[in-house]
Amino acid sequence: MKKEKNSLLLNVLHERELVDIAISSGRFQKIVKAGSLNVEEFDSSFKVVDATGLSILPPFYNAHTHAAMTLLRGFADDMPLFRWLSEYIWPLEKKLTAEDVYAGSRLAMLEMIRSGTVFFADMYWHREETIRAAEEMGVRAAIGVTFAENLPHAPFEEYFAFLKNRTFESDLIQLSVMPHSIYTVGDSLFEKCASFAKEEGFILHTHLSETEEEIKNCFKRTGKMPVEHLYDLGVLGENFVAAHGVHVSEKEMELLASSKSTVVHNPASNLKLSSGLFKMQEMLSRNVRIALGTDGASSNNNLDMHEAMKFASLLAKRENPEILPAEEAFKMASRNGALAYGLDAGVIQEGALADALLVDLNNERLVPNYNLISNWVYSADSRSIVSVICNGRFIMENRKIDGEEEIIESAKETAQRLLNS
Ligand SMILES: [Zn+2]
Repeated sequence: MKKEKNSLLLNVLHERELVDIAISSGRFQKIVKAGSLNVEEFDSSFKVVDATGLSILPPFYNAHTHAAMTLLRGFADDMPLFRWLSEYIWPLEKKLTAEDVYAGSRLAMLEMIRSGTVFFADMYWHREETIRAAEEMGVRAAIGVTFAENLPHAPFEEYFAFLKNRTFESDLIQLSVMPHSIYTVGDSLFEKCASFAKEEGFILHTHLSETEEEIKNCFKRTGKMPVEHLYDLGVLGENFVAAHGVHVSEKEMELLASSKSTVVHNPASNLKLSSGLFKMQEMLSRNVRIALGTDGASSNNNLDMHEAMKFASLLAKRENPEILPAEEAFKMASRNGALAYGLDAGVIQEGALADALLVDLNNERLVPNYNLISNWVYSADSRSIVSVICNGRFIMENRKIDGEEEIIESAKETAQRLLNS
């Protein structure tokens, strides 16, 4: 099922028009009026799909998550971030083996694909296992080489060598430099990560300005707010993607905008951990690029980008219904996430990478169809997604994903073993 990279989608709704689409070598090759594509002109490597009754939409790009944390879903809830991390999450994570991370990552990808996500940025450990799982499932990923000085680690020189080597990169997988946060990575290592990422052409991703406690500690230590502090260390720039950005000053927003950095808003995680309210209106008015993420499943507790999009949208509207129209919220969840990680994707147009969702226009939540994007953002859920295409391949076809039963079984067994170990 994952093999074909060439396909013809016939009679599919695209931006209020019925079109035929040819996908070749992982890109949208032709988008023409329905009925005008001559199927005979394409060789037998093209899979022909009658898409009558379906609409094509850009998929989701999850710009911040910790995939294998699906194994910790529901393990500890309802407490503040630092206590939750230090008393529950970190002790259990210490027990995770490479095989466990593989099982948890596959569960995460199963959930993400079914809910319309084709890309995720992952900050975790045992990265080779997450890469193996992503390659098997056929999704895109930015896999982090995670730096954290508070946890046991190999010499960081090995991490830089691993990145520089780029052995694991492919047309779907990119490696990224991911210092965990300013409270787990010291200034000199942070600086080194930043200059290395800029010189070698990697995205740098970190947690930033998530809680008031982080701000207080940073101010006490450096006399500056976190974003200002990282700006002075030379971290900000087009390759910089910061997760959260909840507690930021006006000056910091200006720095994020002028440096062309991206902020990843994780609305469900921020609400669940009472991290604070994201300043959507202020960020938008300063043209800060905003993408969306789910964060890990243990602080969400799912990896559903559709929910992230709706949460972000409603949170932004809490005082003013005109903030963040549906089109913009959808763009944050799709195109902006792709752009943040350097992908020419998240848009259905000739020449772009062929990532897409086919959604069922007869799903009750998409009826009546006055405005599909409005329906998609405010009304729909992932049950309307029929197929998911990533890099030209069907990674979910007619709601079937390769190996799904086995993935569920192995995640259940892994969680049971973790609990008893
Ligand atoms: Zn996170």
